[in-house]
Amino acid sequence: MTAAGVILTRMSGQLRVAVVGAGAAGLCAARHILSRQNNFLPPVVYELSGGVGGTWVYEERVGCHDNGLPIHSSMYRNLRTNLPKEVMMFPDFPFDPQLPSFLPHQEVKRYLERYSQHYHITPHIRFQTVVEEVKPVAMETGEGKVTWEVTSSGGQGGPRTETFDAVFVCNGHYSVPYLPSIPGLEHFKGTLLHSHAYRVPEPFAGQSVVVLGAGASGLDISIELAGVNAQVTLSHGRPPLQVPLPPQVMLLCTGYSFNYPFLPRAALGLQVQPHLVAPLYLHLVPPAWPSLFIVGVCKTICPFPHFHTQVQFALAVLEGAVALPSRADMEAEIQRETDRKLSEGVELRHLLKMEWAQWEYYRTLSRLGGFPPPPPVTQSLYEEVWRQRQRHPQNYRQLNYQLISDTQMSGQLRVAVV
Ligand code: FAD
Repeated sequence: MTAAGVILTRMSGQLRVAVVGAGAAGLCAARHILSRQNNFLPPVVYELSGGVGGTWVYEERVGCHDNGLPIHSSMYRNLRTNLPKEVMMFPDFPFDPQLPSFLPHQEVKRYLERYSQHYHITPHIRFQTVVEEVKPVAMETGEGKVTWEVTSSGGQGGPRTETFDAVFVCNGHYSVPYLPSIPGLEHFKGTLLHSHAYRVPEPFAGQSVVVLGAGASGLDISIELAGVNAQVTLSHGRPPLQVPLPPQVMLLCTGYSFNYPFLPRAALGLQVQPHLVAPLYLHLVPPAWPSLFIVGVCKTICPFPHFHTQVQFALAVLEGAVALPSRADMEAEIQRETDRKLSEGVELRHLLKMEWAQWEYYRTLSRLGGFPPPPPVTQSLYEEVWRQRQRHPQNYRQLNYQLISDTQMSGQLRVAVV
């Protein structure tokens, strides 16, 4: 029996799906589940905070909330998106046309709130409710049949366990700082901060700061620190740290670790390292558990179109429109793909980086799942912005783009700089 066949032999009626998290990925999962009422009951979306938006909910405080839960968001006050809204948007839900292409974070939060309302997701979200455990329970009636027990706390009453046919894990992976080992750090007397806890540049005015890591946050934060007359040294690449440790401040923009405290990793056969979650077939499904979907683990992608594509594919799997290969075949393919990348020199910590490979990935999932891929303009604009960012890291956000429907030529969307 194929893995997908396992799902299709459900006893009767619609499938009941749990969604962990009401950030962009969880909202997207809920939106598509709600649109397929023939096959799915309304989802239960668990959200530990009091609102939707996840990463996009800026929190001035650092550390913990009053209830002891760690602050989830890594947003800083002046953040503007590094993708234009024409690329960032869910392909079926544009941003407000009046807004500029590169948005302050507040606008993305508003957009996600609008998405949640528009698709009537909000009533299905259990706010202030933490998923503590997601556990597979084998059913008696035959090989591989699985239901999932989700135990949550908070909300009303004590811990509660409910049963589902499938689970979408959408808890995000930009919350738990990754701290590299730095020789001599134990003797450092200055301030040590990870970008997760960075909010505003003013406290660094006039100071000497080493920013370690030149990813999106490292670059942006360096630029804003330079704007308040901090002496910034941007350290990146290999060998790891070229300069002596500074006297005052060091800011680690060294990325984040994957973290799934609610998943029984050993029982699921999942390996979770700071930069890797494996094995996941098509970066989404553990081969042994094809009714568990870990959404959005890839990096250097267009997150919202990525979620939109993965979620539709996952639902097509649950509906039986896509038959996954057998567990052994999925595992073999993952191994082949991993070996190929490693033999090409890709480091283990970059195995989930997609970059230009994302477009073929979307086309593959869309073809298999029988739904349209993100429009070609998403790719061409993404690539154009990528070039602009290389050339003008300080002011590429000043450009505004506009999507134009090219009905006479090809029916495709084109893009213009306005
Ligand atoms: P999140 O937004 O992190 O949402 C996860 C949700 O799960 C949260 O609401 C959290 O409270 C909830 N949760 C977690 N654990 C539990 C639990 N146990 N129980 C219940 N709920 C739980 N993307 C772009 O497209 N453009 C950008 O310009 C951009 N800039 C970024 C800048 C920064 C600083 C960061 C950190 C990220 C940026 N991103 C950007 C990427 C961004 O993370 C994604 O766009 C997207 O918001 C991720 O959505 P998510 O739903 O996967 O995760």
